[in-house]
Amino acid sequence: MRTTLIAGNWKMNGARGRARELIQAIIAGLPSTPNYEIVICPSFVFLPDAAEALATSCVGLGAQNVCDQDQGAYTGEVAGDMLAELGCRWAIVGHSERRQLYGESNALVASRFAAAQRHGLTPIFCVGEKLEEREAGATEAVLDEQLRAVFEHQGAQAFRSAIIAYEPIWAIGTGRTATPEQAQGAHAYIRNRVAEYDDAGAAAELRILYGGSVKPENAQTLFRQPDVDGGLIGGASLHADDFLAICRAGDL
Ligand code: PEP
Repeated sequence: MRTTLIAGNWKMNGARGRARELIQAIIAGLPSTPNYEIVICPSFVFLPDAAEALATSCVGLGAQNVCDQDQGAYTGEVAGDMLAELGCRWAIVGHSERRQLYGESNALVASRFAAAQRHGLTPIFCVGEKLEEREAGATEAVLDEQLRAVFEHQGAQAFRSAIIAYEPIWAIGTGRTATPEQAQGAHAYIRNRVAEYDDAGAAAELRILYGGSVKPENAQTLFRQPDVDGGLIGGASLHADDFLAICRAGDL
């Protein structure tokens, strides 16, 4: 039985005080031992505050990216061991905003994935197609290429200690959510591909999150799909009430 995981991606939002308030409100609204797992991924600069505030809570801490290199002249980057030292256990890699706005290639994302694992961080590896790719019937080919880059870099067992987040780009921050059938179709495809590279048992254990305009109103239907194991939540994770409602939808 896979435990549902709800991860909040705060992106580049909020001031320090607002981040602290949001964390307090999330902790206060959660049961002491939820049946689902929760991770929040604030901006790098809020990680120390967040680590302190979350120390005795059930909420895990993640970063929004991780450098592919371990140290040296990589201005603006943050290394995996720095994140681990701050208390992070997770790192998002390959978010579509990184791929689209900052030109991160499949190869670079695979290196970042490797760096996360090297430093004991669980990668939350984002994959997903653009609208024109879906409309051209190329969704599976795009997913395949994104997955293959990680398998070629990390080997067949790459996803034994990782999470995949299926995030159709046309659904991120647009208010347009994939239908439960579209999400289930893509998740089942991803799981089958992982089973072909690795083995069916490992693929069955893999958690695959859906991301793209998840809201309290649609979360439960999405999370009830057989291959959807939770969500990567952007906009709604910035509002404690909405995020908590989505978390409760993970209590299946
Ligand atoms: C995201 O940024 O990963 C995301 C899913 O955003 P939103 O929930 O706002 O669509």
